[in-house]
Amino acid sequence: MTFTTDVSALKQQPEERLIQNAYRKLLRSIKSELDSEDRQHIRMAYELAVEAHKSQRRKSGEPYILHPIAVATICAEEIGLGPTAIVAALLHDVVEDTSIKLDEIKAQFGERIAKIVDGLTKLDSAYNAESPQAENFRKVLSTLVDDVRVVLIKMADRLHNMRTLGSMPRHKQLKIAAETSYIYAPLAHRLGLYNFKTEFLDLCMKITDPEAYHDIASKLQQTKRERNRYINEFIKPLEDRLSELGIPYKIFGRPKSIYSIFNKIKKKQVPFEEIYDLFAVRVILDVPLDKEKLYCWQAYSIVTDVHRPLPERLKDWITVPKSNGYESLHTTVIGPKGRYVEVQIRSARMDEIAERGFAAHWKYKGVNNQPDVYERWLDSVRETLDDPTSDAVEFLWDFKANSLFNEEVYVYTPKGELKILPKGATALDFAFSIHTDLGYHCRAIKVNNKLVPMGYTLQNGDQVSIETERNQKPSEEWLKWVVTGKAKGKIRSVMKEEMRRKGEIGKEALERKLKNLKVDFEESVELLVKHYAYPSHAELYFKIAEGKLDIPDIFKRFKAENGKLVEIQHEVAIKSTDDSKAADAAKPVRKKIDGKVRLTINGESAERFEYSLATCCNPVPGDDIFAYLTANAGLKIHRTTCPNATNLMANYGYRIMKADWKEAGTSEVSFTTTLLVVGIDDGPGIIQKITQEVSNNLGLNIRSMSIAGNEGYFEGKITLMVANTEQLNTVIRNLENLEQVSSVTRIDE
Ligand code: MN
Repeated sequence: MTFTTDVSALKQQPEERLIQNAYRKLLRSIKSELDSEDRQHIRMAYELAVEAHKSQRRKSGEPYILHPIAVATICAEEIGLGPTAIVAALLHDVVEDTSIKLDEIKAQFGERIAKIVDGLTKLDSAYNAESPQAENFRKVLSTLVDDVRVVLIKMADRLHNMRTLGSMPRHKQLKIAAETSYIYAPLAHRLGLYNFKTEFLDLCMKITDPEAYHDIASKLQQTKRERNRYINEFIKPLEDRLSELGIPYKIFGRPKSIYSIFNKIKKKQVPFEEIYDLFAVRVILDVPLDKEKLYCWQAYSIVTDVHRPLPERLKDWITVPKSNGYESLHTTVIGPKGRYVEVQIRSARMDEIAERGFAAHWKYKGVNNQPDVYERWLDSVRETLDDPTSDAVEFLWDFKANSLFNEEVYVYTPKGELKILPKGATALDFAFSIHTDLGYHCRAIKVNNKLVPMGYTLQNGDQVSIETERNQKPSEEWLKWVVTGKAKGKIRSVMKEEMRRKGEIGKEALERKLKNLKVDFEESVELLVKHYAYPSHAELYFKIAEGKLDIPDIFKRFKAENGKLVEIQHEVAIKSTDDSKAADAAKPVRKKIDGKVRLTINGESAERFEYSLATCCNPVPGDDIFAYLTANAGLKIHRTTCPNATNLMANYGYRIMKADWKEAGTSEVSFTTTLLVVGIDDGPGIIQKITQEVSNNLGLNIRSMSIAGNEGYFEGKITLMVANTEQLNTVIRNLENLEQVSSVTRIDE
């Protein structure tokens, strides 16, 4: 019977067409000129990838090959990369996931492409193995200094994965989102890929805080028409004047990202309706290189003639570009109806660099006589990578502080040489940035000829001179006075040597104890380091030597069994929520949970685990949550929107577990939560009205309340006990309905 074969053939056909269409779209999106060899390579890569991935599917069920094609399309269309990167993008998962070997790729496509694919494969395997993410990033960066295209393709890969994250399990979504906002977004910023950064942060927010995301998205949609009308009104008088310049130009309004609007709402504590800078106006001038500055300033003068500027809001990144190469003139003016509007003025070349960053940078290399910002940056990345003392987590932190900084400060050496440091850098950082020895032996620092403390925060235009003394050397305290990775790394390496020396005593004591128990030393130490989550063995020995970790205490938790050290299982317990700091010293206060707080961890009942609710974000049943395995206080339950969550998930993703409330509605236990109530104070009655509503009408327990007000405005903080988010939302709604109250927000304590 041929009937069945026909059906399956029919079924396969649309998919084949889907793949071919995706490939055609890729070819159309390539902006660079292709010779016949390029064309042939792309075709070969496509065919090889189709064949290699033919039996694989993505989580969503679609054919896997659509992913590499989409990544290649992003590389071509959104970063503007050329044929080498497109071929590598098509092949980026081939070695990792299929039986194709790197040698075959080398034979078919040459050394360069094989190297890029190899870099991408290494990144992926590091990720798949349950290795800490932080270690993974170090690998990302070592490949970055080798060939930047590896990281650009990785960015495209991440972007496509983020765009299609919907079919992943929730806890994986959270982990990937955290990693993205912790490292990929700042890296995109540093590489000048602003659109990537914006989309990354929006997509992360969509995962961690879907409610707020959709709320803003729909409000933006609703107000679109009014906004466009306003933008036209703002632009109209400018167009006439700009045309008089006699050069081609574009002027348009651009909406700001949902993430940045959300941040503004949070920071200013005002509702969406009161945020006016939901967009920026951009002027792009098509002028020759040597006329760029002249025309940009002329356009600036036109804009500020028509709309009055706020003088302190002029940002000139044309004279001195940002360290990621960004050039533009920003000003904020007062538009119709007294609303503030940000205007960005730049040339077409500057715009291309602003949109495509690093990738566009090569095209204009050497123009404008600017120092090569990326070369300088790559040097600093190499320097951070070269620091052998930092462990993975420290390294990541340093890298973020040192190389991913968004803002910078400009200072001068006594000879008048310009130095750029991250904003917030100190006088001591400056010393280390000039030379390690200058840092090590720094005795005193003068800024503008006046003596300052070593931890003095540098200001733009400072002239800094360092005095040294040969006998001077860094101490632990110095770590508080620096922020840059270079300085931290150097000081830490001195401290580590010190720690290693002191730790010898601790090591000996532990060795004796383990010998008595007749268990393997190496294996046991490994277990203990992991259990207490120390970054190194040295740290464990040091903590013991310093008496911060007590040997008898260790062996209340561990015992020897069949020549091995094993952990003693503890009873099910939940810790009271306000003693997290005491965890190290005293025994945690335990309270039987009586089956009232019901949680599941990784899908199983949480009763096997010792856990407590994090006090930084006070989760309440109904909240989106995750569990984090702490060093010695069991599992901590955090909200996914917790300010600490991103850091935890990005750095310690391997310690994150999925947590869910079992039945959100039925808990008899109460949970602490804090509300910020803002409104108009029309007399002494407000406290009474709030208490009336919360205690009498809703029957809830107020733990504490503080209200401050001036000139008819009040701000109150109320901490109360609720059973779940449903109850919490009722309180918020009812309070908002009070006449004097204008807004009620849940805040993290
Ligand atoms: Mn991929």
